[in-house]
Amino acid sequence: MITPKSVIDEDGVRNQKNQITKTCAYHNCNETIVGMGKKKYCEEHQKKKYYGELYHKKYLKQEQDNDTNQIINHDFVYAVEEICHCACCGVDFVIKLLPRVYKYPKYCNEHVNEHKRNMYLKQRNKV
Ligand SMILES: [Zn+2]
Ligand SMILES: [Zn+2]
Repeated sequence: MITPKSVIDEDGVRNQKNQITKTCAYHNCNETIVGMGKKKYCEEHQKKKYYGELYHKKYLKQEQDNDTNQIINHDFVYAVEEICHCACCGVDFVIKLLPRVYKYPKYCNEHVNEHKRNMYLKQRNKV
């Protein structure tokens, strides 16, 4: 005869099997979470107050990955040509520094193009 208690126990065991143990995806948080695979954050980091921060971080990361610019701090009051090195292939290229403009490309004309950049990196990794 099945008592109510044994039914609960059976359910408990079945749920346990479907659950995955993993670590909270929040930066520097090593809290273990047990969930069905969808959960990414521990109890604490699921709270609303972290939403903004998590979203912001994601956004910032994307910005950085796609950023083909570099910041050059200078105080020239007239346009000055400056030699830069492509952050991808290292080739020299000339950029024109303009007064009060601090954002400049960090890749040569060729590698401003993301596709060409990826091609270059692939080729280099083969060697
Ligand atoms: Zn956490
Ligand atoms: Zn380049």
